Amino acid sequence: MLDTLRRIIQEVNTAPDLDQALDIIVRRVRESVGVDVASVYLKDIDTGQYVLSATEGLRKSAIGHVRFNPGEGLVGMVSEREEPVNIEDAPSHPRYMFASETGENPYHAFLGVPIIQHGTVLGVLVARQREYRLFAEDEESFLVTLAAQLAGAITHAGASGEVAQMLQASEGVSAVLKGLPGAPGIAIGKAMVAYPPANLEAIPDRQVTDIEAEIGSFRDAVNSVKDDMSDYANRMSSILPAEELALFDALLMMLGGDSLIGETVERIRAGNWAPGALRETIAQHVRVFESMEDSYMRERASDIRDLGRRILTRIQSEVPAVIAFYPQTILVGEEISVGQLAEIPVENLAGIVSASGSSSSHVAILAHAMGVPAVMGAADMPVGRLEGQTIIADGYRGDVFINPSELVCREYLRLQSEETELTEVLKDVAAQPSVTPDGVNIPLYLNIGLVSSVENEVHDIGDGVGLYRTEIPFLMQDRFPGEEVQLRIYRKALEVFAPRPVSLRTLDVGGDKLLSYFPVKEDNPFLGWRGIRISLDHPEIFLTQIRAMLRASVGLNNLTILLPMISTVTELDHALLLIKQAHGELLEEGALVVRPPVGIMIEVPSAVYQVSAMAKRVDFFSIGTNDLTQYLLAVDRNNARVASLYQTLHPAVLGAIRQVIEQAHVLGKPVSICGEMAGDPAAVLALMGLGVNSLSMSASNLPRVKWVIRSFTVDEARDLLKQAWMLEEPRAIRELYNGVLEQGGLGGLIRPGN
Ligand code: PEP
Ligand code: MG
Repeated sequence: MLDTLRRIIQEVNTAPDLDQALDIIVRRVRESVGVDVASVYLKDIDTGQYVLSATEGLRKSAIGHVRFNPGEGLVGMVSEREEPVNIEDAPSHPRYMFASETGENPYHAFLGVPIIQHGTVLGVLVARQREYRLFAEDEESFLVTLAAQLAGAITHAGASGEVAQMLQASEGVSAVLKGLPGAPGIAIGKAMVAYPPANLEAIPDRQVTDIEAEIGSFRDAVNSVKDDMSDYANRMSSILPAEELALFDALLMMLGGDSLIGETVERIRAGNWAPGALRETIAQHVRVFESMEDSYMRERASDIRDLGRRILTRIQSEVPAVIAFYPQTILVGEEISVGQLAEIPVENLAGIVSASGSSSSHVAILAHAMGVPAVMGAADMPVGRLEGQTIIADGYRGDVFINPSELVCREYLRLQSEETELTEVLKDVAAQPSVTPDGVNIPLYLNIGLVSSVENEVHDIGDGVGLYRTEIPFLMQDRFPGEEVQLRIYRKALEVFAPRPVSLRTLDVGGDKLLSYFPVKEDNPFLGWRGIRISLDHPEIFLTQIRAMLRASVGLNNLTILLPMISTVTELDHALLLIKQAHGELLEEGALVVRPPVGIMIEVPSAVYQVSAMAKRVDFFSIGTNDLTQYLLAVDRNNARVASLYQTLHPAVLGAIRQVIEQAHVLGKPVSICGEMAGDPAAVLALMGLGVNSLSMSASNLPRVKWVIRSFTVDEARDLLKQAWMLEEPRAIRELYNGVLEQGGLGGLIRPGN
């Protein structure tokens, strides 16, 4: 059963469009369950009706014509109850509705299971049998298991087909995909697909102009792989028995034959580049092998995949790495890494659309910091088909328009110009002090990390740097940067902002920030070897970093050190000891280093409960609400599926912040917020009420936050907070604060979707 399930899902997953996906489903269900009829009814979004969309057993002419209103007939009953309905004699059931178009007279037994995605019924999968009988429990559970996995594949096939149709159609046909707001703003540009090297499945289609040259480089790559294979076969001939060696002959035959190579060449002639053509050919052959009954033959699919990867590696090693970026490039990918983002010149990067991740992923945070709009978690996006397409990415709502119509373009250009107007208003605000109308100064610091942020003009706004993510320079190297390299980077940041303080956070890798030269593979990386845990296990790396930081501050003395991911006092004491050691060594070496203020990030729940103990040891606290929210609510900050549960205005998050501020203030230690929450105007009102001492955010958010601070007194914020404590739901709290912003004339700051 498991094998059959796996094969059906695999086939559906690779179907090029919705019709073919549904056809596969009904054919395979009828075959494998051995029923007379298998049908799929899909919900029509406009009418809410369930429409017969594919069938094997009923009249095909009924497809698209038989429709049940919500709650109507047995199909309606399945969707209404959101559970399987198993009936011995359907025609005698009170809810049964006869559809004459289907020719379904002779069928009695009925089994319907809902196809549900993210809590919404997409359709109903139905099996029918002539005889009177109840379906057996294992048949029912097979269909339930299948339907539970089909929802995603159906949506994906639908989106993929829609985009394919759109690409073939003439101008003016567009497609819209739904993702999650990643970083605010609207981007209009051309898609460039980011893909990991040697990952055949991720290769996009790309138009090629010099077809003969492309075929030439493809053939060269194939010949190199052939040579490799012959070498392997020779080397293995003394070790392997003849029957195993035959495998090499089979692979060599494929590399010389017409099917794999000839078909790829045909696809190149049709205009696709060699990697894209190869991907399609390999996928087609893999599908054929995987659908074979014989398990030995099925296993051969992985040999074909392997051949594909080998040829791809060869092609990629021959292709010069010169990439022509579009003037307005929208980086599109299944999963975009921080490194891929950094590869694009900032002036060419208009936006980001990622099939995975959420607004709390580091790529989204970086995009936000760079003022680049981003849509995350657009899971149904057919990434491979998007290269070179015109795209609008709405980072406010999470919508992605592919090949948008004139009308949509005009509307978005209008929104873009409204944004520019707001920016003008905010420019005036940015020059004013960050003081509330009742005279309370709340300094606003910057979150930076990208070197370009230091070089650009951002340094003239803000009261300093509240969070310098030092891992970004680490991510851009091919080895751990040495003390001198780090010294130069940190010195530049400290100089640019002096005499204002700059908080350098020690290396915080792990989780979703992986160093190519320091691979860490874990099942639960966010609960694993991250942040300070790595630094303490590698004092040589930590001490080098601290020495570079201390030396960078000589004569400027505007450095503060921030330690990430502290979860116990033991870790803190260990880190403080190492800082003391580095400081002592430098003094011995004659450097005029001053011991800087040291603070910790509160981003692990255990630290919330130990603030009193920590406050005796450190000079300040900075709450990392990105991680604190993820750990408090048990919601992976990168997982699009649970993104709607990731709520910074959750009463539990606010309660934790209150506790940290209250405990820290008892010992007179200031508290800042450096997570994304500090740049969210509604949340800022709550944080003012909680008594936060300062806030740190990306430069693009700073003027908005300053506008809030200059518009509301601390007393007002405290009163509002009293109302917020009465509310139990995050959404209600957000509505409360959004309402207040609106009434105060700051409605322009409310982000659609928030
Ligand atoms: C945080 O967790 O809130 C934070 C600022 O750190 P990062 O986003 O880099 O994990
Ligand atoms: Mg963090």
